[in-house]
Amino acid sequence: MAAFAGKSVLVLGGSRGIGAAIVRRFASEGAKVHFTFNGSREAAEKLAAETGSEAFAADSADRDAVIARVRESGPLDVLVVNSGIAVFGDALDQDPDAIDRLFRINIHAPYHASVEAARQMPEGGRIIVIGSVNGDRMPVPGMASYAVSKSALQGLARGLARDFAARGITVNVVQPGPIDTDANPADGPMRDLLHGFMAIKRHGKPEEVAGMVAYLAGPEAGFVTGAMHTIDGAFGA
Ligand code: NDP
Repeated sequence: MAAFAGKSVLVLGGSRGIGAAIVRRFASEGAKVHFTFNGSREAAEKLAAETGSEAFAADSADRDAVIARVRESGPLDVLVVNSGIAVFGDALDQDPDAIDRLFRINIHAPYHASVEAARQMPEGGRIIVIGSVNGDRMPVPGMASYAVSKSALQGLARGLARDFAARGITVNVVQPGPIDTDANPADGPMRDLLHGFMAIKRHGKPEEVAGMVAYLAGPEAGFVTGAMHTIDGAFGA
């Protein structure tokens, strides 16, 4: 399969979990893939060697580093913004600096990266941001900042879809439910609580999310823009 042969793809936050599955998917379909990492240099270097992609250190909390990375990657056919963090706990007890960092990573980076990518993006480019079903539904306490950040991406997609549509550039959000990664392991303490909200009572696989991203990045999705695409075992239903 070489559906993305000759295409240039940048994944922000590609060293582990869902991001790594997205890197693997595009690389296996012939794309030239760049991805960023922050803390996981070893995992990033291993993934780059395995897939023939290139890894770059860039903290998504650093707006200028994000913009520079996008610019230096050259004209992108596909930008995927996957990097994201959660801060758990009582809103009244949380460190405001930690919450601002979350907003920088989860909201500011997707916005500035998308705008910067669009400057050089060719006709028909694709911008895909990994949101969360928590942008639609937050059924537990202690995660309001995360929910805020993922809801904000819905506005990003709706607005930038209109800004870039004349050039055939689409902007979409993929909204996973519980996916088996380091951040949310399928055998973790949240398992039963999360599965209780779902119709399909299992964690999703990173590869399942990567499949949806590949569809949105592909030629069949040219009419799909400004939209949220939920993949969640009916967590949000
Ligand atoms: P992981 O914690 O397993 O992996 C996160 C990835 O993002 C890593 O590659 C990490 O790189 C990167 N990253 C985190 N912070 C930064 C940063 N400041 N700068 C650059 N890269 C960064 O998370 P998941 O794979 O589970 O989640 C990926 C995305 O999917 C996130 O946006 C998350 O909100 C979303 N999501 C996940 C769900 C789940 O259940 N797993 C459900 C819904 C949404 P490094 O280790 O190198 O810092």
